Amino acid sequence: MNRTHFFGAHFSVAGGLENALYRAQELNCDAAQIFTKNARTWKDPELTREQVTRFDNARKKTGITRIFSHCTYLINIASTEPEKLKKSVSVLRAEMARSGTLGLKGVVLHPGAHLGRGTEAGLETARSSLNAVLSLDDGWFPELLIETTAGAGTCLGSRFEEIGQLIRSLDRPEAVGVCLDTSHVFAAGYDLRTTAALNGTLDAFHRHIGMQRLKLIHANDSIPSLGSRKDRHTHIGAGLIGRSGFGALMTDNRLKFLPVILETPKEADGADMDEINLNSLRELAL
Ligand SMILES: [Zn+2]
Ligand SMILES: [Zn+2]
Repeated sequence: MNRTHFFGAHFSVAGGLENALYRAQELNCDAAQIFTKNARTWKDPELTREQVTRFDNARKKTGITRIFSHCTYLINIASTEPEKLKKSVSVLRAEMARSGTLGLKGVVLHPGAHLGRGTEAGLETARSSLNAVLSLDDGWFPELLIETTAGAGTCLGSRFEEIGQLIRSLDRPEAVGVCLDTSHVFAAGYDLRTTAALNGTLDAFHRHIGMQRLKLIHANDSIPSLGSRKDRHTHIGAGLIGRSGFGALMTDNRLKFLPVILETPKEADGADMDEINLNSLRELAL
């Protein structure tokens, strides 16, 4: 098959981690994203040997190797509260270890919120948290991928400058890449709606972060408007980025051969929307 990108979606792990890969295979995906634990709690269960074996078998059977995990939303590596910060570092470390054991390619992390102390102080705390986690890499850690954010409240990472600065400040910048979420960058004020607008946005990404650090795309259309700093995903072509924006994204040479993961609602009017959204992306990539 002539591939331009490696398409996939965030899939449920209900009934077993391996079920995400079998669902991905049903939809002809080459990539997948999962939660390796319940994303709404701090609880951090160890993987059993049986879970790992079933996941390994599913990876072999499906041939899907571009698999990513998304961290729990509870983590704040820039927190002002010592207890919360400690927990965030240990849960992130456990996520990296678990994802490594499962043979995943990357772990997606939001860069945290400064909670009113200001961007510079927040980035400094994030830097020391990431250094603490990455120094524990026993050679099995997957790549840590910092996700671009919409910039709600005091969240860091809505400006490419902040992500670039954070990565360059780390002891091991080579261990870290970036995940670009289309709806987040749009809400943060980076236009993607036309080829010209996308060019400007990717030029800024390259200037402040570097295209070589871009490892994953989250493809989500946006309900909130450009610069609204609000995060609400919708189906490809149904939001304000629109089909023309995704057409520009899917045909830009700088984004070719990257994994592209949907995080869009799973259902609409009873229809299975992953299949429809994947088909939209595939069509627009032709
Ligand atoms: Zn995310
Ligand atoms: Zn995302």
